[in-house]
Amino acid sequence: MAEKLHIGCHLSASKGFLAMGKDALKIGADTFQFFTRNPQGGRAKDLDLKDIEAFLLLAEEHQFAPIVAHAPYTLNPCSDNPQTLEFAEMVFEDDLKRLVHLPHVYYNFHPGSHVGQGTEKGIELIANLLNKVLKYAQNTTVLLETMSGKGSEVGVRFEELKAILERVNEPQKMGVCLDTCHVYSAGYDLVSDLDGVLKEFDAVLGLEKLKAIHLNDSKMPFASHKDRHEKIGQGTLGAEALARLVNHPKLKGLPFILETPNELDGWQKEIAFFRQKYC
Ligand code: FE
Ligand code: FE
Ligand code: ZN
Repeated sequence: MAEKLHIGCHLSASKGFLAMGKDALKIGADTFQFFTRNPQGGRAKDLDLKDIEAFLLLAEEHQFAPIVAHAPYTLNPCSDNPQTLEFAEMVFEDDLKRLVHLPHVYYNFHPGSHVGQGTEKGIELIANLLNKVLKYAQNTTVLLETMSGKGSEVGVRFEELKAILERVNEPQKMGVCLDTCHVYSAGYDLVSDLDGVLKEFDAVLGLEKLKAIHLNDSKMPFASHKDRHEKIGQGTLGAEALARLVNHPKLKGLPFILETPNELDGWQKEIAFFRQKYC
């Protein structure tokens, strides 16, 4: 029997975990993503363990897929500024320590921007940070997100992600989150050659490393190295290509997270679309 489609969207964490779980159910989702703190960085709220307990009961009752915690955008593990690196380490460590309260969660982060130091140096700095903080990951799998290649981003080619994973001392705690908008902008043609892209991912990284998908359309053309998400069906990937991706046998069972510019009602429609297309 075909596995169930696990799909959700990015929700605001401000009202807590139980509220996110209930919002997810309301829109037909069985997973979601949230920021571990204000995306601009800053201090994280103390976790409310009662709230988490209530959420976990709800998630179990409704057979949620693993949820995804997203690190703040300002976290740059390959900056040339020592203070920025220190901040990245502090946030990473603190987030991983807090996430021990959630069984089987993913912690997704942007590998960062090397700001002119070069991709090689960037890769080395990212691996250095991971090697300092991975010991704090207990039930958490840390995910490198595939990037579009705007500015001096690292993690654009699958080979760059592989080079990071090769330098990490606990690779079993790591995985990859593939963002459809980013990967298409990076020059991987998910529209005309989905099989080829997945084959390449498998050859370079191994498909078993792929743990989650960010399911987005893109405002920008193929291989543009721009990062502008679009609503499903209104962008350059298109609804049909994304529905094919959701149905790809090699991706079945993964959590799909919408990061499209929507409110709850818009995500509800997108989730309904993919559930209806799912076979
Ligand atoms: Fe992201
Ligand atoms: Fe993303
Ligand atoms: Zn993006």
